Amino acid sequence: MRVLVAEDDVRLADILEQSLSEAGWQVRVEHDGRRAFDAALTAGVSRAGAAVGFDVLLLDWGLPSMDGLTVCGRLRSLGVLTPILMLTARGATPDKIVGLDAGADDYLAKPFDLDELLARLRALHRRIRPEIADNQLLQVGDLMLDPEERRVSRAGTQIELSVREFDILRLLMERAGKVVSRYTILDEVWDGETDLRSNVIDVHVGSLRAKIDRPFGTTTIKTLRGAGYRVEKSTTDGAPDAGAP
Ligand code: CA
Repeated sequence: MRVLVAEDDVRLADILEQSLSEAGWQVRVEHDGRRAFDAALTAGVSRAGAAVGFDVLLLDWGLPSMDGLTVCGRLRSLGVLTPILMLTARGATPDKIVGLDAGADDYLAKPFDLDELLARLRALHRRIRPEIADNQLLQVGDLMLDPEERRVSRAGTQIELSVREFDILRLLMERAGKVVSRYTILDEVWDGETDLRSNVIDVHVGSLRAKIDRPFGTTTIKTLRGAGYRVEKSTTDGAPDAGAP
């Protein structure tokens, strides 16, 4: 997940960069409207390839050299469809309407809650990859996960998972090859519920392993102490990468 952050307040930009990185995003920061426009334009052109470019733009309204509203409007007029979350100190409704009219997909007034920002970025990101996220069969080695049917099998053997186990596995398989932080799992699978026992993820990952790995003598989910969990992208049998088209 790649996000372009266009924010001229350097301190806020730093906080955003750090928070988004911790939440698993690849972040590029620009402090200037024109530079952000150029970066986003490149992203928009290559979006069809889906391998490069940004998944979401986080665009401050007040930017030097080209304001966020202009950046947004110009990108849209050039056919760049990358989802845009506008950020502004102006919380007034007319401004919100102007921002959405310019082609922004969502709008958040400063000061904002970081968790809310992260949730909204994820929602925007999900919106542009619905087919991949919602329907595409995920495969890692002989482990298959069908998001639509909510079925999991290994080497043709159906595996019964609980809702949480399934959601964790799906998240890890969607991001195969990448470390998924405990924060991200809590956020995506438990929707940010905070009154959870601290070992809730370990318990579910443990029961997940007991179902998808132990009976088959495999090790699909790696624990990276202090960082999170990772499902390796493919196994030695040469199976296609999970999530590959
Ligand atoms: Ca600003």
